[in-house]
Amino acid sequence: MTKFYKKLLIATLICISNFGFSQSNEIKIKFIGNCGLYLTDGNSNLYIDFPYKSGAHKYMEYDKAEIDNIKDNAIFIFTHRHADHYSHTLLKKLEGQKFDPWSIPELEKLGETIPDFDIKAFRTKHKVFGVSFKHYSYLITWHGKKIYLSGDTGDLEDVSNIKNIDWAFVNPWLYMNALHEKVTIDAEKFAIYHLYPNQKIDGEVPPNLLILKNQGEVITMPY
Ligand SMILES: [Zn+2]
Repeated sequence: MTKFYKKLLIATLICISNFGFSQSNEIKIKFIGNCGLYLTDGNSNLYIDFPYKSGAHKYMEYDKAEIDNIKDNAIFIFTHRHADHYSHTLLKKLEGQKFDPWSIPELEKLGETIPDFDIKAFRTKHKVFGVSFKHYSYLITWHGKKIYLSGDTGDLEDVSNIKNIDWAFVNPWLYMNALHEKVTIDAEKFAIYHLYPNQKIDGEVPPNLLILKNQGEVITMPY
């Protein structure tokens, strides 16, 4: 057998074995609470705005098991450092890569170590009682799927310029801003996160909108 055919045979076998044993080719997104999400493709484990301080600012509490269940090779990404999104105390006890608005250049290089992954950060506004906080929204492109994460911003400028978002995770005030200002967000599906416990949503819910009130809910994205 020539070298070439040997190589071809090996390559074919690798393909078959990958196919046979491959993971289910899906991204799973678990809603933990507030803007806290756990994203995995079965290989990499990303936590967005988690861990935060449970119950901070009267937002959602979560079970301590969520902290115990954090994966070893975790990657933590934060939109900003408010207590309902971020806990320094909890984070310092955890191993893993940690990114926040003070490490955006490093964060945007994550694609060099995670296969088929890219993250783009958008500096977005977040003002509370007249005080501006350093805040970023993110667009993750993973296995060809686009996932947008608003965090706390109500800014429409960046998000309205992104094409073909698969899942847009947006807070209620950004979603309402878009409706009032008749700004289109080009997303196939929307998930509204960062509700208060027992917060009611009035009116009819469109079929492409998921309201994240159930902690532990899992969204599956096949790719
Ligand atoms: Zn905030």
